[in-house]
Parts: sequence; structure tokens; C-alpha cells
Amino acid sequence: MALVVMKFGGSSVADSDKIKHVASRIVAKKKAGNKVVAVVSAPGDMTDDLLTMANKITSDPPVREMDMLLATGEMVSISLLAMAIDAVGAKVISMTGPQAGITADADHTRARIKKINQKKVKDQLDKNNIVIVAGFQALNPNGDITTLGRGGSDLTAVALAAALEADSCEIYSDVEGVYAADPRIIKDAKKIDYVSYDEMLEMAGSGAQVLQSRSVEVAKKFGVEIHSRSTFSENQGTIITSEEKIRRKKMEALLVSGIAFDRNQVKFTIIDLPDLPGVAAKIFGGLAKIGVNVDMIVQSAAVDKKNDISFTISRQDMKKTQMELDKTVSEFDGASVICDEHIAKISIIGIGMKSNPGVAAQMFEILSKKGINIEMISTSEIKISCIIDEVDVIKAVDELHKDFGLSKKKQENLM
Ligand code: ASP
Ligand code: MG
Repeated sequence: MALVVMKFGGSSVADSDKIKHVASRIVAKKKAGNKVVAVVSAPGDMTDDLLTMANKITSDPPVREMDMLLATGEMVSISLLAMAIDAVGAKVISMTGPQAGITADADHTRARIKKINQKKVKDQLDKNNIVIVAGFQALNPNGDITTLGRGGSDLTAVALAAALEADSCEIYSDVEGVYAADPRIIKDAKKIDYVSYDEMLEMAGSGAQVLQSRSVEVAKKFGVEIHSRSTFSENQGTIITSEEKIRRKKMEALLVSGIAFDRNQVKFTIIDLPDLPGVAAKIFGGLAKIGVNVDMIVQSAAVDKKNDISFTISRQDMKKTQMELDKTVSEFDGASVICDEHIAKISIIGIGMKSNPGVAAQMFEILSKKGINIEMISTSEIKISCIIDEVDVIKAVDELHKDFGLSKKKQENLM
């Protein structure tokens, strides 16, 4: 008998009708002869609502109490879903993360899973139960409940699938799978059939909101193949798997699999820094100390023993960064800081780039034809990112996805 882990996101259990629908999908999977473990997120926007409630009480809630609060959202889902399954006559039990044997470290609100005692869930499966597990939560070494970071139910599902050596891990949401570009903005972007773990991680890091990054890291580590698909249709979604498997299946990988963009970045430029050893170390060391994550960095060639450094960070760290730079840069005579809030990062991602030269040139050419100026560039083995003016971002994604053959029309033509 196959063991299937199914995970349903918040929008799939947002109201009682949806919960009943999810119940029917789970029961159908069981009736088809599988052992079923279902992981669920909090209904709808409940986690956001709980955060808002806490912030109305205090701007600085103790993290232990925050986790006590946030963990309640998923408990609403598991109990209601178990009731819905029971109501149609199937055997079911709900379990919190701790009851399911999931333990994590003590880092409240962003804990890491340490161990899963798979016997807890297995015992229930052996009793012929469908097991419904609360996503996003675990027990820490102090015996307290803890949460796994936003979007953490994906991680619960993948970690459970690994621990239980499940035959498949299906992640259900309100979209049909992973798209080559955000389908809410690029209407004719095509759904991707296969995507590698590394491509998926690059897409998440480049602003595509698909699966929680840590869940993909864990899937890669333990070789858990993920099927990302829709709660509301029977269609095949996207398989997230190893690069070897994709290459075997498709013979040759697509040049570019996806396009992502991130409007949530800002760019800082420090002008006229002395061209001396230790200057960059001082600036970025200071930022690291206050917990600012720097993304792209570009340093210009020195002229008259001076150079400029530009870098990007996440918008939420803008104030902190400005304050820190005001401090460090004042030590360098004549240097000054400029902040540009109106930028966006656009990235093309694909394992096919590894073996095909000229992809970067093609990207720059497409942007230049549309009169879009590139302010910064960075590359990895499977990704090219450019910083451009925020106003150009939609135009850029639209052009790139068409030119790299990622629109539905193009896909149909090819068949
Ligand atoms: N409910 C949590 C959140 O909204 C966990 C999840 O949805 O995966 O972040
Ligand atoms: Mg959610």
C-alpha cells in the first residue's frame, strides 16, 4: 500500500465548503488504496490576522507567547478537517505537530525541525486512520510549542514525507503548479511540467512566491519529489525533482525555465570611497552585525584612488542600513551615500544555461530593444539577475517570457 503525504495551503481550507472539498479529496485518495497523511495550514489569512491581533496588544510580544498564538491557526484547520472526514464516514485522527512527534530547536517563530519520531504517525496509520497533521509547528527542547517560519507547513509536509519514506508528497494550493512567470501578472505564462530543486530555490530567492525555500532545501537533501498541484482540479501540476531526473526525462533541459522578479529591494550606492584594503570589509561587516542581508554587490574600477560601491538589500532593512551607513561612511573623508528605492530585480533561471553560452547576451539584448536600462548584473550557474528601474519591471518580464518561449501560445505552437 502506498503512503501519500498531501499538504493543503490556507486558501484551500478557508471556509467550510472548502474544508469539505478537501475532505473529499483526502477520502478519495484513501479509498484508492493509499495510506494518507494530510498536512494543513491555518485557514485563509488567519496567521496574518493573529499577528495583527498581537501587534494591537504590544509592539514587542514575547516570542514564546507569539508561537502559542500562531500555532492555534493550524489547530483550527486540523480539527475542522477531521470533523469533515468523520462526517463522511472515514476513520480519521488529527494531531498537532508535537503529537505527531515533530521536534525542533528553541528558536521561536523560525525554529528548525530536528527530528521526527515517525512511530507516532505510523501507529495511527496502522490503525487504518487518515492522519491530519498541523503544519508549521513543533515541540522545542523546553517542551514548548514553536513555529517554523512563515509558509512552514510546506516544510512540515516535506519533512514528514522524508521521515515516513512516503511514496509521494503532493502540495495542493489554489494554483495549478509552478508557472514560468507569475500568472497573476503574465496571463499567458505557461505552467512548468518539471523543475529542479535548484531552479526552484533560485526562483524563490528571486521573488517567486511558490514553495517555502526551506522545504525545497529539505526535499533536495532527502530526495523527496514534490508534486505542486491545484486543490480544485485533477490536472497534473509541476514536479519538483532532481536535475538528473529532469535531464533523463527531457533529454535536453529548457534554456530558461522561469522568470522571477522582486520589487522589494532597494539599492544603496556609496560614492568616493578610498581604494584601500579593509574598506568593503568595514562597510559590509557593519551591516552583517546588525543582521542585514546584502544581495547584489558591484564595485567600480578605481579612479584617482577612489571607487564606488553599490549594493541591494531588502526594503524592510532600509532604515537600519541607512543609519549604519551614515555611521561607517562618515569615517571616510569625502564619501557619501545615495539610496534608490525605485528599483526592481529581474531574474531568469534555468539549468539549461549551464551548457548553453549566450543566454546572458540574449537577455541584455531583449531588455535593450525595449529601452530598458540595466543598473546592476549578477550571475550564478543557473541564474542571471539584473537590477532595473521599477517602472520597467512588468514590461521586462513580459518580453523575456515571450522571447525565451515561456508563453502558452509558444508551447502550443511547438506541439
Ligand atoms: N499558517 C502559516 C503561515 O501563514 C504557515 C503556512 O501557511 O504554511 O505562514
Ligand atoms: Mg498560509
